[in-house]
Amino acid sequence: MNKTYDYIIVGAGSAGCLLANRLSADPNNNVLLLEAGGKDNNIWLHIPVGYFKTMNNPKFDWMYKLEKDQGVNNRRIDWPRGKTLGGSSALNGLLYIRGDKHDYDNWEHLGNKGWGFNDILPYFKKSECQENGKSKYHGVDGELKVSNLRLKRKIAEYFIKAAQEIGIPYNPDCNSEEQEGVGYFQQTSYKGFRKSSYRSFLTKKIRKRNNLTITTDTQMSKLIFSGKKVIGVKCIQKGKETEIYANCEVILSAGSIASPQILQLSGIGDAELLEKLGIDVIHNNPAVGKNLQDHLQVRMVYKTSTRTLNDELNTWWKKAMIGLQFLFFRTGPLTLSASQVYAFTNTSLDGSRPNIQFHMQPLSADKPGDGVHPFSAFTISVCNLRPESRGKVLINSADPSQPPTIISNYLSTEGDQKIAVESIKVARKIAKASSLKKYILDEFVPGESYTSDEQLLEVAKNNSQSIYHPVGTCKMGHDDSSVVDDQLKVHGISGLRVVDASIMPELISGNTNAPTMMIAEKAADMILGEKLL
Ligand SMILES: Cc1cc2nc3c(=O)[nH]c(=O)nc-3n(C[C@H](O)[C@H](O)[C@H](O)COP(=O)(O)OP(=O)(O)OC[C@H]3O[C@@H](n4cnc5c(N)ncnc54)[C@H](O)[C@@H]3O)c2cc1C
Repeated sequence: MNKTYDYIIVGAGSAGCLLANRLSADPNNNVLLLEAGGKDNNIWLHIPVGYFKTMNNPKFDWMYKLEKDQGVNNRRIDWPRGKTLGGSSALNGLLYIRGDKHDYDNWEHLGNKGWGFNDILPYFKKSECQENGKSKYHGVDGELKVSNLRLKRKIAEYFIKAAQEIGIPYNPDCNSEEQEGVGYFQQTSYKGFRKSSYRSFLTKKIRKRNNLTITTDTQMSKLIFSGKKVIGVKCIQKGKETEIYANCEVILSAGSIASPQILQLSGIGDAELLEKLGIDVIHNNPAVGKNLQDHLQVRMVYKTSTRTLNDELNTWWKKAMIGLQFLFFRTGPLTLSASQVYAFTNTSLDGSRPNIQFHMQPLSADKPGDGVHPFSAFTISVCNLRPESRGKVLINSADPSQPPTIISNYLSTEGDQKIAVESIKVARKIAKASSLKKYILDEFVPGESYTSDEQLLEVAKNNSQSIYHPVGTCKMGHDDSSVVDDQLKVHGISGLRVVDASIMPELISGNTNAPTMMIAEKAADMILGEKLL
């Protein structure tokens, strides 16, 4: 590492890797990408289903634990976050979803100029390499491979038919004109292998650029200021603290937990909290770390008379066959993304804007990452797409090695509770539609004895898990509740931007990986455009 770069990007995750590629495309920019985690040379980071091995593994996962949350009956929910090159895109479920166009029009409506759907669509397309070809909504010239599933199971087909029988239309592409509908997911993989942001945007060829330095096992601890201008970062490498300086900007792409944590550790946050922890206040902004939003899924498991992946995974020789299938054909269960089928609909089932998303999996387990059940079964999980509940990420120590306190406040509004209850009812309607019903033996979780709204709310509180989409903790906007402006510059500070999932003012209606990359793509244009002025 040198002592000085033009741009220092903190965090080699979904956003950081894309940004490092784009900024270093100009040979006049000297770019440093800092990553706290290690190299991504473990095979399970490349085989899609590897998330079962990499999640909850401290080598690759920050392994955050939420505070006890009353909304989910005082459970402490796990929040995995990638800690390696590629960040969370190296261990996520691979699902490629953009959200609904109204999400982005709403961001613009909230005062964020240039973030409406028509403005951001070109950025989705720019980084995309879509297997199904070019269209008004899709690009083929980008680095991010978006592929069709390489494994299909009959039970998924029955689910798709059943959803149509209750009025959810078939939609082969929910990332286009209309989000509503049921269909097969696409995933960020190529020829059977996962494509993380690192493997997509920082290929060998790009890494050879003389003006790009990538360091791993380097945790940034604090920003360095000259007055209210950021001029560099302090980081810890092999136990030693180093200072590195930025001629142009420091860009935080450390994700929705670490970006607000770094801001607070550096003196940007709620002055009262920072003073209590003995941190010098550079800029008082109580909004830092607030506005935390996430998708909470309620999971239902159905025993079935037809074969599911559970049957394929429960003996050693079948597992060996699966290994061979992957080895020779790059197909089969090892290529499985976290789900096979999506359905976006409204709990009223009247065709209005979807407010819930289903993820259907042709397998079942007690919780994501656990071994599969020893019987044929499948899972329907459902989440509220735009929860009203808001949590927060607050540091509890001036020590950067201490994880922050994460308060989720799940199901803390009546509206969210109602949608949770109604969404279980919609799931049951799909299960009772004739194409699926004939194969169902039993509702294993939660069980048919739960019927009243009060009981279903208890089900949601007891059986829910995160889908790992935390956003919003460095909110983009122009009022007191925001942290960055619509150029992603931190309010009250110069030389500093945040570019990652944390800037979303409101959670988008779907999975958050592709939208985070879109944010980075747009940010790169803004940063490079500004340099030309
Ligand atoms: C288990 C799991 C499954 C998911 N499944 C899906 C899915 O199927 N589809 C989907 O669309 N979305 C999914 N998501 C969500 C999606 O992956 C994230 O929204 C997205 O990756 C966030 O990108 P980011 O750039 O904000 O942060 P990240 O990708 O998390 O990157 C942050 C990076 O910063 C590094 N870092 C943190 N602190 C420091 C520091 N102090 N110094 C240096 N580096 C630091 C981290 O190690 C990490 O590499 C999933 C997430 C998880 C965790």
